[in-house]
Amino acid sequence: MSRSDLLNLVVDSSAIIGGFLPEEDNYFTVSEVIDEIGDESSKERLLYFLNSGKILIKTPIEKTLKEVTKRSEITGDTLSITDLKLISLALDLDSVIITEDYGIQNVASTLGIRCKSIRESGIKKTINWEYYCMGCKKIYSKNKKVCQDCGSKIKRRPRYT
Ligand SMILES: [Zn+2]
Repeated sequence: MSRSDLLNLVVDSSAIIGGFLPEEDNYFTVSEVIDEIGDESSKERLLYFLNSGKILIKTPIEKTLKEVTKRSEITGDTLSITDLKLISLALDLDSVIITEDYGIQNVASTLGIRCKSIRESGIKKTINWEYYCMGCKKIYSKNKKVCQDCGSKIKRRPRYT
């Protein structure tokens, strides 16, 4: 899987404080989030993700920030400059925001940006996989290298129940 196949996700401070853990997608945040986190262990965790390149710092485009600021004035949500930058970055990157913050969710939704809570963003961890034979389509509950029946390769897919 190349990096371009992965989702772009913007992470805010409430997600970091809430225990967000990056998986294999592309995660972004703005530098102001670092100062917004008062809790030492959360800050340490964020710095670790930044240093290891799991989360990347980006600056939103100035024009986008102006639009988002205007929008937040219309909805009447009181957002910090950090929040406004995060929403702008999500627009720039055409990405989903991971946040527990109601104000961000509200303004983001009026701009057509999708928000996920940490609980929802962890959905991938609880996917049940099934394994199927590329030859005879037999389904296995456990991974095998090759099909017992026909010897074809086994592939994995999410099991929807
Ligand atoms: Zn088979």
